[in-house]
Amino acid sequence: DVWTYDDAPQSTDHAKIDDQYGHFIDGTFQEPVKGRYLPSINPATEEELSSIAEGTQQDVDKAVKSARKAYTKIWSKIDASERGKYVFRLARLIQERAREFAIIESLDGGKPIRESRDVDIPLAAAHFFYYAGWADKLDYAFPGKKAHSLGVAGQIIPWNFPLLMLAWKVAPALATGNTVVLKPAETTSLTALKFAELCRDAGLPEGVVNIVTGTGQTGSLIVNHEDVDKIAFTGSTEVGKIIMKSLAGTDKKYTLELGGKGPNIIFEDAPVDQAVEGIINAIFFNQGHVCCAGSRLLVQEGIADRIIQKLRDRMETLIVGDPLDKNTDIGAINSEQQYNKINEYLELGVNEGAEMYQSSCTLPEQGYFCRPTLFTNVSQSSRIVREEIFGPVLTIQTFRTAEEGIEKANNTAYGLAGGVWTDKGSKIFKVGSKIRNGVVWANTYNHFDPTSPFGGYKESGKGREGGLQGLYPYVKLEN
Ligand code: NAD
Repeated sequence: DVWTYDDAPQSTDHAKIDDQYGHFIDGTFQEPVKGRYLPSINPATEEELSSIAEGTQQDVDKAVKSARKAYTKIWSKIDASERGKYVFRLARLIQERAREFAIIESLDGGKPIRESRDVDIPLAAAHFFYYAGWADKLDYAFPGKKAHSLGVAGQIIPWNFPLLMLAWKVAPALATGNTVVLKPAETTSLTALKFAELCRDAGLPEGVVNIVTGTGQTGSLIVNHEDVDKIAFTGSTEVGKIIMKSLAGTDKKYTLELGGKGPNIIFEDAPVDQAVEGIINAIFFNQGHVCCAGSRLLVQEGIADRIIQKLRDRMETLIVGDPLDKNTDIGAINSEQQYNKINEYLELGVNEGAEMYQSSCTLPEQGYFCRPTLFTNVSQSSRIVREEIFGPVLTIQTFRTAEEGIEKANNTAYGLAGGVWTDKGSKIFKVGSKIRNGVVWANTYNHFDPTSPFGGYKESGKGREGGLQGLYPYVKLEN
């Protein structure tokens, strides 16, 4: 099904969204025990798209029980190659329904349809394909050792890449023989609930994947459930720290993928036009709701004025608006709460004495939209440089020598991802190896692949997801 830009959907025709969704437990959609629901809002229109169940202790108990039963009776017993076939089937089904998933992702989360179509959904399928391949090759993944599954994995994901974050977590868990209780973010649960339909279509044994929706309170019930063996969390550093504390002293394995404040370092010898495109992609992709966003631009003094001018010119061409319009570059901010947070940071930046530049585009009247924004004249100690804003807001600092650039890049509590732009291969290796980030891109940014591990240092998290390393958190190894 080749889907070109010209027939990209402009409406919801191909995406069926129910008025109300229960939890997906034991292979069926079930009403929440206490009967409470939360609205799911389209951030581009502020209208209600659907409502999702609010998970309470009883719902989480049911889901964990279902996952445990499926693990003990079926999933831990079937052949590894059989497991792989199910994971492969899920990948194929995502591909077959890619159009529908892309539309729902854009409606529910606000991201441009071009990104849902070209990045989120194909990459989600790619993760299922990749991990399907590992299911019966764990002996090769861990030579000389026997890899055992852990049991029930509790998985909690954020709202910026809903289906993709699900894929990062569900695919390796299933491939290694674990069963799952997953909680999507409260503002973007719809593609996870659609994925539940795929589990049914794939004939996945009941209870292998359970999806419980709700707020952070529901997430915390999963984290603290005594019959969950492993927690995989992606979200804010703040919540990551709470989770780490509550897991201390338990024998649950856990991985934390947290926030970031990525340095994007441009040297004087960088290919200028390519670098400007890279800077735009690094900070404005997905409205800047990206943990590894290049939100701190570090540019060498001699080239700074030229880069900033070109950046402003390019920002003027960016279209902010309807996520379903194939021409849109920057869609809606995911929620009212995040919209308010970004605006507070804009005000803070100005109050901190920084110089603000925003593109002059027209914003839609309805919905949560922000102009792409640059801050120059910022100091290292300012909050807009130190804190993760998670929006289309870039701070720009300059440096003279490579050493100063590296020092500024590392002068942060985070350590997730960054970029280096130069035409000298030797400089890429020299500088890249000194940046304390899980990922450093060279002359590109936001480049993802299921075969590559991803994860952070310092306050950006613990453990790795993706690639061979992404299997480790889901197994215990025996000699
Ligand atoms: P968040 O921490 O507020 O929420 C993430 C998820 O955790 C949601 O499902 C939420 O309901 C749940 N949650 C909230 N409180 C909880 C608690 N006490 N116990 C258990 N679960 C709880 O984060 P967010 O605002 O949804 O996402 C944005 C953050 O995620 C950013 O900081 C971003 O950098 C980070 N992120 C990191 C990565 C990565 O791979 N490192 C990827 C994407 C997003």
